[in-house]
Amino acid sequence: MKGLAKDLGGLIGRQGVWSDPEDLYAYSTDMTHYLARGMPEAVVLPASTEETAKVMQYAFKHEVAVTPRGAGSGLSGGCTPLHGGIVLDMKRMRRILEINPGNMTAGMEAGVVLRQFHNAVERMGLFYPPDPQSQEVSTLGGNVATRAGGPRGVKYGTTPNYVLGLEVVLPDGSIIHTGASTVKYSVGYDLTHLMTGSEGTLGVITRVTVRLLPLPPTRRTAVAVFASLDEAATMVAEITVRGTVPAKLEFITQGGIQIMNSFLDPVLPLTGEAYLLIELDGTPAQVEEDAVRLEALCKEMKVLELRMVPDEKQAQTYWKARINLAPAILSIFKRMIIEDVTVPRDRIPDFVRWLQNLSASIGLVIGVGGHAGDGNMHPTIVLNDFSQENEKKAREAIEQIVKYGLSLGGTISGEHGIGFHKAPFLLWELGQTQIDLQRRIKQAFDPKGIMNPGKLWNYGGAA
Ligand SMILES: Cc1cc2nc3c(=O)[nH]c(=O)nc-3n(C[C@H](O)[C@H](O)[C@H](O)COP(=O)(O)OP(=O)(O)OC[C@H]3O[C@@H](n4cnc5c(N)ncnc54)[C@H](O)[C@@H]3O)c2cc1C
Repeated sequence: MKGLAKDLGGLIGRQGVWSDPEDLYAYSTDMTHYLARGMPEAVVLPASTEETAKVMQYAFKHEVAVTPRGAGSGLSGGCTPLHGGIVLDMKRMRRILEINPGNMTAGMEAGVVLRQFHNAVERMGLFYPPDPQSQEVSTLGGNVATRAGGPRGVKYGTTPNYVLGLEVVLPDGSIIHTGASTVKYSVGYDLTHLMTGSEGTLGVITRVTVRLLPLPPTRRTAVAVFASLDEAATMVAEITVRGTVPAKLEFITQGGIQIMNSFLDPVLPLTGEAYLLIELDGTPAQVEEDAVRLEALCKEMKVLELRMVPDEKQAQTYWKARINLAPAILSIFKRMIIEDVTVPRDRIPDFVRWLQNLSASIGLVIGVGGHAGDGNMHPTIVLNDFSQENEKKAREAIEQIVKYGLSLGGTISGEHGIGFHKAPFLLWELGQTQIDLQRRIKQAFDPKGIMNPGKLWNYGGAA
C-alpha cells in the first residue's frame, strides 16, 4: 500500500482499505458501465460512523474526491467515481439497530440490504413498503440517496415517504442527526428530505430511521391479458379512477412475459400484446371487494383473459419472475438501457403509442414496461450490435423519450435519479434559476466540491 491508500489504512486499519488494481476496476462504475468508468485511487469500507468521519476529515483536508457507494446497482452512474479519489463502500455498516413495534419505526446502518430488512420486519408482522426491484442487493443508504421506488409506489409511495431521520457525515467530517423518530416533525428546513435523493453529493448517509406499517393480512395476485398495448395502458388509469388502488400494478409486454414464462409454472398465455400484473392487498374483505371490482372492469374493458392466481405461494413465483426480468433480459442482449421517465397516469396510452412509433422510426428495439400504476415507465433499449450508428441512435432515442415525457407533463426520473447519465437533461426540467439555487445549496454543504463530483449539477468538475 502506498500514497492515499496507505494514509487511509493508517486511519481506519488496512483491512478496511483496498487498492489492488482489480478491486479498483470493480469499483470503477455501476450498472451504467457502458457509459463511463472512473478509476478510484482507493476503496474504503468503513465499519462505523466514526471511521466514515475520519475518512471525510482526511478527504476534506487534502481535497480528495469521495464517492459513496451502496451496492452499485444504480442505473444513472451515481456511484461511478468520475474524478477518481476514494470510493466509500458502505456495505460493512450493515446492522439493523432497532425495530420498534410500539412506535412502528426502525433504525439501521446505511449498508443494510433492503431484502434483509424486509425479511426482518415482516417476521414481526410489520411492513416496509418501498420495493425497488434491485432489493436482493441494493442498500437502504442507496435507496435513500436515490429516492428509490418500486411496484408498491402506486399505493404506498416510495422511499422518501418512509424516511423519518438520518445520520449524516458531512464533507468536512462533522456528524449531524436530522429529523426524529416521530411521524410528525416541523423544525426548520427539512434536511432529512434534502439528503434523501442527494445522490451522495451532499454527505454520507450512515444511519437511517424509517416508519413502518402493519403487514397487510391478505394479498391476491392477478394477471390481465390485453390484445393491444393501448388497451392495457388505458386500463392502468381506469383501475384507480374506478376506486381500486392496487398494491402493485406492473405493465409488461408480450416479450417480457415470454421471458418471465421461463420462471413460471403454469406459464402465461402468449395471446396478448400487453399484460398487467396486479397485486391487491388489505383485509380479506377489502381484497375480495377489490377483486370483484377488478373482474367487472376487466369484463367491461374486454380483456382477453383475467387470471386470478390461486394462492400466495404461486403468486410469489410471478413476483420473483418480475424481479428476475431485467437480469434475464441481460442474458439475452448484451446491453440494456433502462430509462425512467414518469408521466401522468392518464397520459400512459399516449406515451406507449408514441414509443412504438419511435422504435419503428429510429430502428431500435425499445421495450416498454414499468411500475405503470404510478406513471413510472421504463422504456428499455436493448442492443447486441454496438456499431457507432446504433450508439448514436440510442442516445438520440433517450433524448427524444425524455423530451416527450416532459411534454406530457412528466419528469425525467421517477426513481433512478440523475447521476451523470441524466445530467444533460436537467435544464429542460428545472430551468436555470432552479439549477443555480441547487448549486448554491451544494456549495453550502460541500464548499470544496469533494462529494461525488461530476454528478447532478456537475459542480466541481466536468460532466
Ligand atoms: C435489475 C435492477 C432493477 C432495479 N429496479 C429498481 C426499481 O424498481 N426502483 C428503483 O428505484 N431503482 C431500481 N434500480 C436502480 C437501483 O437499484 C436503485 O437506484 C438503488 O436505490 C441503488 O441502491 P445501491 O445501494 O445499489 O446504490 P448505488 O448504486 O451504490 O448508489 C446510488 C447513488 O446513491 C449514492 N449513495 C449510495 N449509498 C450512499 C450513502 N450511504 N450515503 C450517501 N450516498 C449514497 C451513490 O453515491 C450514488 O449516487 C434497479 C437496478 C437494477 C440493476
